[in-house]
Amino acid sequence: MSALDMLATELATGAVEVVDLTHTLDPDFPVIVLPPEFGQCARFRMEEVSAYDHRGPSWKWHNISMSEHTGTHFDAPSHWITGRDQPNGAVDEIDPANFVGPVCVIDCSQGAAQDEDFELTPQVIADWESEHGRIPADSWVLMRTDWSKRSGAEYLNMREDGAHSPGPTPEAIRMLVEDRQIRGFGTETVGTDAGQGMHYTPPFPAHHRLHGAGRYGLQCLSGLDRLPPTGAILLAAPLKIRNGTGSPLRVLALVPGKDRT
Ligand code: MN
Repeated sequence: MSALDMLATELATGAVEVVDLTHTLDPDFPVIVLPPEFGQCARFRMEEVSAYDHRGPSWKWHNISMSEHTGTHFDAPSHWITGRDQPNGAVDEIDPANFVGPVCVIDCSQGAAQDEDFELTPQVIADWESEHGRIPADSWVLMRTDWSKRSGAEYLNMREDGAHSPGPTPEAIRMLVEDRQIRGFGTETVGTDAGQGMHYTPPFPAHHRLHGAGRYGLQCLSGLDRLPPTGAILLAAPLKIRNGTGSPLRVLALVPGKDRT
C-alpha cells in the first residue's frame, strides 16, 4: 500500500482529519492599520453581480476585492525590502512543494493571556524543544496565542502608541531562521511581528529575517488550539498572483483523528 493509498484510507475512516485554520473573509474582519502617512491595506469587499434575477436569471455571483494582505494570508519574500532580490520571491514563483509540509505549534496561549505584548523568546523555543524535540529543518512554526478568539477592536488592540499583540523577539526569529532553518513562521495575530514590533532592532524582525532569507509568513490564522505540537501537515497555497507579495488563502492542516491523539 502506498503512502497516498494509506492517506486516502485514513481520511475516509477519520484516522486523519482536516482542520480549517482560516478566518472567514468578511468586510468586518480587521486589517492591519499603519501610521496615516503610509498607504493602507484594503478590507475585503464583495458586490453582487447577479442573484438569479434580471442580471442573470439562473446564476448568482459576486465581484470581490481586497489587499494581498487581508484576512488569513500568506507573506512572500518580496513583501519585505530585505527579500526584494530573493529568487522566486513572489507568490506565483514559489515552488509549490513549499505549500505542503510539516508544522510545529508552540503554545504561547497562557503567556499571551497574561501579557498582550508576550514575546516568543529563544527560551520559550528551548522549553518547547525539551518537551517535543528539536524543530526539524524546513518545518512551518506556528505561534499559538489564541488571539484568533478575539474580535473587533480587541483583535488589533490599538492604543495611542500603536497595536499591542504578541510576537517573536529578534533573537527568537534569528534562531528559527538560521539555526533551525524553518520554512516559515505563522501567527494568529494580524502580523508575524508583535504589535510593538517596530521598536525592536531591526524593526519588524520576523518580516526582516524571514523574507530576507527567502522564507514565508502566515498571519491571521485561526484555531491553532486544534493542532498538536508536532505531527500535523500544513496545506497553505497562496493564489497565483503575478508578482504578488502575498495572498489570502485557505489554510488547512491534516491532523491525527480524535481517537489517535
Ligand atoms: Mn502580510
